[in-house]
Amino acid sequence: MTRILVSNDDGIWSPGIRALAEALEELGEVLVVAPDVEQSAMSHAITIRRPLRYRKTKIGGLNAYRVDGTPADCVALGVANHGPPDLVVSGINIGSNIGFNVTHSGTVAAAMEGTLYKIPSIAVSLRLKRDLPMDFGPAADAAAALSKVVLRDGLPEGTLLNVNVPPGQPKGYRVTRLSVHQYQGSVLRRVDPEGEEYYWMTGDPVADERDGYDWAAIEQEYVSITPLKLDLTDLQRLPDVEKSMRELVAREAAPARG
Ligand code: MN
Repeated sequence: MTRILVSNDDGIWSPGIRALAEALEELGEVLVVAPDVEQSAMSHAITIRRPLRYRKTKIGGLNAYRVDGTPADCVALGVANHGPPDLVVSGINIGSNIGFNVTHSGTVAAAMEGTLYKIPSIAVSLRLKRDLPMDFGPAADAAAALSKVVLRDGLPEGTLLNVNVPPGQPKGYRVTRLSVHQYQGSVLRRVDPEGEEYYWMTGDPVADERDGYDWAAIEQEYVSITPLKLDLTDLQRLPDVEKSMRELVAREAAPARG
């Protein structure tokens, strides 16, 4: 029997994880392990200085476990308690995770954690639109369709899929690369009622219209599928860096100064 571990960063009570888990039930046995409260933008953090609790619960008719930790904690505990599944799927996140923004994403990190265990892993996020109601249906369908393919073909070791679904009914699928998804005005400074300054991380995303990138695919109403590598080494630029650092590297051979 195919086993699928489902997690997220919006927390176990998010409608997104429920829609995802229910859609994946047709592909195998689904186990939900997710944070007990929202952990968005926690990235790949893990909890190492306090104990974690793993508590049985139910979402809909599904067996689930809630963890007082991060998305990565959830995947690690799920694997530790039930053995490695055939697939890890994280989401459906409320809001897109595209461009360089993936480095902040807890949704993507849960899939990264699965990838660390050599389990094929997928992160799924839904782009929201102000005037449209939040509908996880098309994203759940896309997640099931993609999961089916990944269960059949697997993924290269160290590679995960970052999937973003446009609002409404997608026109189809596109395989893309990460856009340069930055935020304008991302640190707001204001004054609280006590007269003290506070800061709020926010901002509007800057468009990146290039064809073949995740931003454009979503804008054109396609499901964007981006393969991501855990190995962030820039192999292409490694020789340049080696050249620029050559004096420092050479210094190692010199006798240590007493
Ligand atoms: Mn989130």
